[in-house]
Amino acid sequence: MARVVLRRRGARTVRAQRKRGLTRIRYGPIDRLFSRVVRARDKTCQFKFLCRGAPVREAAHLIKRNRWSVRWDLNNAVGACWKCHRFADEHRTELEAFAIKHLGVERYSRLLVRSQLTEKAAGVDRVAVKAYLKRRLMELGA
Ligand SMILES: [Zn+2]
Repeated sequence: MARVVLRRRGARTVRAQRKRGLTRIRYGPIDRLFSRVVRARDKTCQFKFLCRGAPVREAAHLIKRNRWSVRWDLNNAVGACWKCHRFADEHRTELEAFAIKHLGVERYSRLLVRSQLTEKAAGVDRVAVKAYLKRRLMELGA
């Protein structure tokens, strides 16, 4: 929704929107690190809604990243091409079907339950998350 409105104002990509400070949710250093890990892990678009496995361009959340308890959970994101990412954002039913298939019912259910918690209640330790993501990035050789 926000994206459609914002794009009319000339910010064509998420990156352009970020640069102009137009996105609603702030995008910080952990988000950038998280995105790098996801893109290093998934080299091609995992959705394949509109492509046949195009090179990965972005990290796409399965459960929205305004759910802080699962924002940096590596189960909660896949590498995606720009087209499929946008399609996923606009087609929540297809996205959920993908998530169930991708993670399996049990893992997806656990993620869903966790997404209902606050960041604090979920025990998210940002320092630990950052250290973990840095380690994963090294392991992935990125
Ligand atoms: Zn794609």
